Amino acid sequence: MKLASYVSGRWVEGSDQGTALIDPVLGTELARASTTGVDVGAALAFARDKGGAALRDMTFAQRGALIKGIADVLTAKRDSYFAIAQANSGNTKIDGAIDIDGGIGTLKYIARLGETLGAAKYLKDGKLERLSRDEAFQAMHVSVPIRGVGIHINAFNFPSWGLWEKAGMSILAGVPAFAKPATATALLSYQMVKDVIDAGVVPPGVLSLVCGGARELTDLVTGQDAIAFTGSADTAAALKTHKRVIESCVRLNIEADSLNSCILGPDAKPGTPEFDFFVREVVREMTTKAGQKCTAIRRAFVPKAVIGDVAAAIEAALGKIVVGNPRNETVTMGPVVSKSQQKAVLEAVAKLKSEAKVVTGDGALKLVDADADKSCFIAPTLLRCDTPATANVVHDVEPFGPVSTLMPYDNAAQAIQLADRGEGSLVASIFTGDKDFARDTVLGIGPYHGRVLVVDASVGKAQTGHGIVMPMCVHGGPGRAGNGAELGGLRGLAFYHQRFAVQGRADWLQNVAAGAADANG
Ligand code: NAP
Repeated sequence: MKLASYVSGRWVEGSDQGTALIDPVLGTELARASTTGVDVGAALAFARDKGGAALRDMTFAQRGALIKGIADVLTAKRDSYFAIAQANSGNTKIDGAIDIDGGIGTLKYIARLGETLGAAKYLKDGKLERLSRDEAFQAMHVSVPIRGVGIHINAFNFPSWGLWEKAGMSILAGVPAFAKPATATALLSYQMVKDVIDAGVVPPGVLSLVCGGARELTDLVTGQDAIAFTGSADTAAALKTHKRVIESCVRLNIEADSLNSCILGPDAKPGTPEFDFFVREVVREMTTKAGQKCTAIRRAFVPKAVIGDVAAAIEAALGKIVVGNPRNETVTMGPVVSKSQQKAVLEAVAKLKSEAKVVTGDGALKLVDADADKSCFIAPTLLRCDTPATANVVHDVEPFGPVSTLMPYDNAAQAIQLADRGEGSLVASIFTGDKDFARDTVLGIGPYHGRVLVVDASVGKAQTGHGIVMPMCVHGGPGRAGNGAELGGLRGLAFYHQRFAVQGRADWLQNVAAGAADANG
């Protein structure tokens, strides 16, 4: 099977054999993807002209209805996507749900935002401000959709959620979505877009898809386009320093790798609910999607006095994880996505071992229904580093698999310093029953994080999860995490809008404001 690209309103296959998409359990080829010979320049122009004009003509409510239409198509086909996620990404049912339902749920949330914004087509921000003595002359801020496309370059780990969280925000803003999924797992993105296009719910040019390398994308961007990228820091650096991106000052949002952490409060002794919730979360983050979540916990900080208890509890829980072919219903953790990822994770573990010792994992693995030679499994691996203040590698090397490092801290101030050693992370979580420790830690780690989750006994069951991105909250992080921000309610629209000041007659400004929705909801 060859995955076609949906460009300029039609499906086009690449002209060469392209790249193989491989089942990470069986080692068999599932499909091929290539963009060779696909006219990406014409596709971008088509999206800008046709899709952009169509969306700008719609109100937020109409765009919201369009997005709901997409979500409805995907909901109707939902059950058929799990087998694809299983085959191409090695997902268990829960892994698949995080990606598939996560994508659909995010679209539904964005659709509701559109409904709330109603009949407006653009946004106003704040009140009119007087600029001179004469009250007749004032200023205000307005945001309108940019005239280009949203170029959405995604990582391999979320072929559904990554596609739809970006496309949804872009379309609601009034900017066509031009999706480029990671080639290795593009099958799910392809099938979902195919179902949406076949259902006829999107106007021409509003949604495009390229399956394959499409490396010319960055040569073709303009200052009115916006690139939303998720992936490795290396690719992010290549995009950031691309001549065209620099010269045209292209909007570029980066979601890159991150050494996320969690902190167990000094009060949370063994036997407390917070201790148990902490252990459950670390194990869940290590094993869900085989640890291939940008938000996964890579560093776990605990009071020195309880590190032995925590290590034993996590080791015991990891001992219950069944690793193997997700087609077998007893399996609770699948493989990483490819042989190259398997090699990269093993190399990262080898580096981490220069500063940490293995508590469990990193050895021969008992696999259910899978052949170790053909497949891409990694044992859930807990490491322990007893000298985190002087260590470097544990705060720097991201093992993008089921791997986490446990570390002790001496006091609250040191816990903050250690979390911040990630030099910018997407998320951190704090497990404590002490509200003052929670406050001080939240404020201490805030400058280095995009999201902070605080869990005590009362919200332990209700909380949505350290690694789960909720569309109401910002997704992104400073520094190493890329310094980007996606989602976060209406704020997510800002990336696709030009905000500008208008100065003039106050009553005329009111006339402009009358057609706008409030940017703050
Ligand atoms: P990657 O190798 O950087 O690839 C990401 C995407 O960029 C893919 O679609 C890839 O296309 C494309 N790409 C690569 N080189 C490009 C270039 N020169 N120009 C334009 N596009 C290019 O990353 P990955 O291996 O898929 O993802 C793993 C990494 O992503 C991890 O480090 C993880 O931490 C990070 N991640 C971050 C987040 C977040 O939200 N912050 C989420 C998930 C993952 P091809 O597939 O065709 O090569």
